[in-house]
Amino acid sequence: MNFFRKIPLLIFHYWGRFKFHLLESDNLIITWSNFDKGVLLCFFGAFCQLSALKWYLFSCYSEENRVWINHDFFVTRITTIFITLGIFIGLIALSHRYKGNEKFRQFITYFSPMFFGGVMIYAGYTVGMFSPATISGFINIVLIGLVYYPRKIIYSIAIFASIFTIIISYLTFNDVIRYAPVFSDALTHSEFYHNPFWIKSMAEVYLPILLISFLFFEILLSQWRRREMKIKKMSQTDALTNVFNRRYIGEELSILESKKKATYAVVLLDLDHFKKINDDYGHEVGDDVLQRVATILCTTTRIQDVVGRFGGEEFILILKDQNLQQAIEIAERCRKIIEQEEFELETGNILKTSASFGVALSQPNSKKEQTIRMADRALYLAKQQGRNQVRHYLELNLDPAV
Ligand code: GH3
Ligand code: MG
Ligand code: MG
Repeated sequence: MNFFRKIPLLIFHYWGRFKFHLLESDNLIITWSNFDKGVLLCFFGAFCQLSALKWYLFSCYSEENRVWINHDFFVTRITTIFITLGIFIGLIALSHRYKGNEKFRQFITYFSPMFFGGVMIYAGYTVGMFSPATISGFINIVLIGLVYYPRKIIYSIAIFASIFTIIISYLTFNDVIRYAPVFSDALTHSEFYHNPFWIKSMAEVYLPILLISFLFFEILLSQWRRREMKIKKMSQTDALTNVFNRRYIGEELSILESKKKATYAVVLLDLDHFKKINDDYGHEVGDDVLQRVATILCTTTRIQDVVGRFGGEEFILILKDQNLQQAIEIAERCRKIIEQEEFELETGNILKTSASFGVALSQPNSKKEQTIRMADRALYLAKQQGRNQVRHYLELNLDPAV
């Protein structure tokens, strides 16, 4: 009784794990270990056997369809389905039990795809080696195999599968074994392309493989897209502060530069005497300060503005569609918040810091490097004039086009 009560919990538990591994984990299905792939294949194999069982027991076993079924072979086929289903389930159970055993893992790696392939070829033979369901099924399985397994495994199985297929075809052509033995002579000798039972059977035989292929490629693609997005994000962000990195800033400025009419402001800021923070309190505290400053900059600017880390303790803001006065105001707001921020140290002491800012406005047809150079010079001016202040490019008394 206790065990039966546990079943829903177990199903819930395994469904959660299944969902995590296939849909949420960063571990792509094609990078799974060959052992794990082998176990998943056993699940697929068991599913195909259950689906075949459903077809044989429910679709074929009706009074109206009896005439189309070869009764001599029917029992053999049902028996083989039960045996293969048992083997797949047994392999799954053994894999769970011996997942730590290296020899067993090696065995599953090769045996599982080979057995799966053999079972599929045999199933194909029972409904006709050259029937539409068999041929489409083989194409799907070969495609999945090529994507899913390393070449070495797939080619060694392909040799075995081809030999098996050739032998079956040879024996069929020479009337040693029957073609499509599941079906009766009444069906194979008639115009079976016009037989609704045969057409329905083909669809039902092919459906589980189609479903598996669909699921497999859907899972693979969604994992792939998620990883692509993650890689893209990683290539654009600074690992320490989580704001954009210099590469992304360069790309963003190039886009703005290509929109000739767009005006934007560049604000460069550099923490004052930051080296002293590192020297006095250690690199970790320095890192913490950098992270907090990055957060301040993100929360103080608008959603469409871009915040990036330009160098060690130097940040950049790209403020879109802003005039100089607005950009100075934003820079001043950031400066004040950074100046007021209190960093509590482990010792209980309070650490304070400040930053110097240089602001420049893009000019029509000017290059991004020119705007950055102007902002950098304004920043240098702020440092020269005593730090913790905002200076802008017009104060430089220079031709901005220089
Ligand atoms: P100034 O006011 O003139 O800018 O003085 P400063 O000390 O801030 O300037 P300086 O360029 O001499 O020092 C910058 C320091 O920033 C040196 C370097 O160790 C530190 N730094 C650079 N990147 C990191 C980082 O990722 N983490 C930490 N903790 N420190 C960093
Ligand atoms: Mg500095
Ligand atoms: Mg610096």
